[in-house]
Amino acid sequence: MSSRAIKTVVALPGEGIGVEVVNATCEVLTGAGLPLTILTPPQGAAALKSHGTALPDETKQAARAADGVLFGAAGPSSSPVVAWLRWEMSAWGGVRPITFYPGMRSPLADPTGIDYVIIRENSEGMYPGREGELTDLARVIPDLSDRTGRTLKEYGEGRFAVKVVTPTGAERIARLACRLALARKSQGKPGKVTCVTKSNVLPRADGLFQQTAERVVGETGGLQFEHFYVDDAARRLVRFPKSMDVVLCMNQYADILSDLGAETAGGLGLAPSGCFGDGWAYFESVHGSAPDIAGRGIANPTATIRSAAMMLDHMGLGAEARQLEKAVARVYRDGKTLTPDQGGTAGTRDMAKAVLSAYRSE
Ligand code: NAD
Repeated sequence: MSSRAIKTVVALPGEGIGVEVVNATCEVLTGAGLPLTILTPPQGAAALKSHGTALPDETKQAARAADGVLFGAAGPSSSPVVAWLRWEMSAWGGVRPITFYPGMRSPLADPTGIDYVIIRENSEGMYPGREGELTDLARVIPDLSDRTGRTLKEYGEGRFAVKVVTPTGAERIARLACRLALARKSQGKPGKVTCVTKSNVLPRADGLFQQTAERVVGETGGLQFEHFYVDDAARRLVRFPKSMDVVLCMNQYADILSDLGAETAGGLGLAPSGCFGDGWAYFESVHGSAPDIAGRGIANPTATIRSAAMMLDHMGLGAEARQLEKAVARVYRDGKTLTPDQGGTAGTRDMAKAVLSAYRSE
């Protein structure tokens, strides 16, 4: 049962279309009469001017104290905002649903039934970047060689990036994938975890992730496990998206595959996400600040509205979250108020208003 006590949401738009889609989403949340107080503390370029930092301490405090945090999209001036939300606050588990609703503009011939979730390991792998000069690395680890025996020294000048995989990081994300797969299984889904790595080329780093995932799925019980190399997985997400249930990916692979998955379901403007840590969560669209369309009022607000629905669910407003999802589905089914990426002529706020009106009539 949903709790009706007033809850606090901190909305951090980031920049670019993040501002447009977060404002439109807040209008939906407010117009829906949800028991929320929405705060918009300083952040991004404006905060940089007024406070000398893109994310002032008062904003961090407000976000930490809030029941829900909704982020828009990062660009060059607001990347410290997402860096704090995701990495400094250790939101290690990314949950990225890929769902097709009739009316969405999928490029696939038969997208009906696409409904799976990409789980993104958010805190390790290649991100956040750890890079340096090859010559420095060669000085510290002179004997480090690749699988052909070529040492770093032999490359001469250049750069490197470090990929990190820990048993702790792999285990906690695998457990999150299992919890989600079991929850979905109880709703009639297959109960399957598909692990994605490149362990044929990186048997120690990616191999650790794969082996940990397989062990955790086995220990959990009641779930199927399969594994694909990331190149094969990309193909399968296009060719067999309906065979997917919970797709557990290392950080960078998920970053790439979630854009691909979003596109198969209808577009990047439709894909929501939740990022979960220990006692911490925030919600954001999968897309970025889209400088190519920013400021024109035509960005699709669906990803952010659906991220808000995930946030409501997390805040204990499950019934309202489901109602909001249904309202989004209705707007696509009706097909009258869609943004240009979906073949329509509506603006961001018009589409959000249509979602609000559908919410009210659900
Ligand atoms: P992008 O996701 O911003 O845009 C990719 C393409 O998708 C663009 O053509 C854009 O117009 C379109 N698109 C994205 N969202 C849309 C929406 N809601 N409605 C309609 N069309 C939409 O990726 P990019 O252009 O590679 O990156 C732009 C900036 O965003 C960069 O600074 C990048 O670092 C940042 N970025 C941030 C995040 C994040 O905040 N989580 C994610 C990805 C990229």
